[in-house]
Amino acid sequence: MNRPPRRSGLTPEQERQRAEWARYAAEEQARRQAAAAARQRAAAERARREEAERRARRAEARRLFWNRFVLYLIMLGLIFAIGGGIFFFSLHRTERRPHPQEVTYLFGGEWTADGKTVVEPQAEMTLNYAEAVHAGVQYCSMTALADLVDLSITGTQETQKFSCPSGEYVRLTVGSASAEVNGDWLTMDGAVLLRGSGDTEALWVPLSFVRDWMQGVLVTLEADRVHLALDAAEPLGFLLKGSPTALAVDEKAEFGDTPAIPFKADLSAYEQYMNPADRDAYLTLINLDNKLDGTYIPSDLTKIADTRKDGRATQQMREYAARALEAFFIEMRACGVTDVSVTSAYRSFSYQTQLFEQRVAMYPSLPRAEAEAKAATVVAVPGSSEHQSGLCVDMHNLPSADIAFGNTAAFRWMSANAHKFGFILRYPADKTEITGISYEPWHYRYVGRYHATRIYESGLCLEEYVAQYRASAHN
Ligand SMILES: [Zn+2]
Repeated sequence: MNRPPRRSGLTPEQERQRAEWARYAAEEQARRQAAAAARQRAAAERARREEAERRARRAEARRLFWNRFVLYLIMLGLIFAIGGGIFFFSLHRTERRPHPQEVTYLFGGEWTADGKTVVEPQAEMTLNYAEAVHAGVQYCSMTALADLVDLSITGTQETQKFSCPSGEYVRLTVGSASAEVNGDWLTMDGAVLLRGSGDTEALWVPLSFVRDWMQGVLVTLEADRVHLALDAAEPLGFLLKGSPTALAVDEKAEFGDTPAIPFKADLSAYEQYMNPADRDAYLTLINLDNKLDGTYIPSDLTKIADTRKDGRATQQMREYAARALEAFFIEMRACGVTDVSVTSAYRSFSYQTQLFEQRVAMYPSLPRAEAEAKAATVVAVPGSSEHQSGLCVDMHNLPSADIAFGNTAAFRWMSANAHKFGFILRYPADKTEITGISYEPWHYRYVGRYHATRIYESGLCLEEYVAQYRASAHN
């Protein structure tokens, strides 16, 4: 059969192949378009899901924020509630136990106590409560009281003796709660305070001391008023509980003057310091049983010329002790001992606390109480150190304090001559049981020549000597 030739000029077979290719191409394009559409849909779906997740996260964050906010509000509320509670509770408490802003002290005046009427010239002073009541103890001015009842005052700023016309007396030392009453000692409710300066300078003592130990003075204590007056019905005096009133000791009559001492150097300018006129002013016993108040700082600290020149701070002692020590060094050098210097003298309560704690820390394996006890044999317990008094000095010629100093020629000279200048070897080797402090050949204590000479000659330590001296003063 004869077929007409195709326009394309292709064979039927070629035509068929071409049509097949065309169909295939069309199908392929349709498939691609479908795939693209599917991808777009998927992308849109993903975007929608992500947006939804973002919203969910934001919602969660907001929810968390508000939860915390509410929690904080509740906590804040609780803090305010507790704080307010404490505040109002304390208000309530102070309402129940009020104390006045001020306390007025009345000296003398016309007033009645126990049915007796007393008339005296009146003096008056008003103090802040915090000044009138120190550490929970009501105080009064011993100086103002002495003025009122006519006690005579002798001694130094640090140690003052208040004497009645009858001779009875009390000796008080600033910073110490021990009072010497007619040669015997008692402990007051608080330490003696030194207040004011110049004309207003006064010693303040616990009011209970005046009330309990002063005869012939009427004491009335109200919340905001303290009334002190001479009681015309009783003679003025000082009492000791459980013992009869002791007679005053006339020291000048009982003990002769100390003979002059021949020195190599001219120490005449130092005589008044080596041998103080107020013989007992520097006899204060300071040890574990007789501690100084933590607040005590001597008011007359004086620089020591013979402080070791190795960069340490210039050491200080109380004026009389420092001057007497100067004489000690001048004579010591004149006698050929030239290499001794002062390593330590006055130490504050806080510095002594630091030294003690350092020592305690050297026994880490011991329980605290045992470590403290062990440390206390080497370093004085704060308050019990003589160094706080400004009356003692560590001096030697070794790199550091060592008992080997006790074997040196310098020590032999010092221990044999210290008393001439008013100093004693405070912690001798044979008295450690009594002093509670190990042998310290470098530690010297100023007591004044009178007592230093007696201590040196008797071989007693200060504890023994003071006990004996008090007993003899009492007879
Ligand atoms: Zn010392």
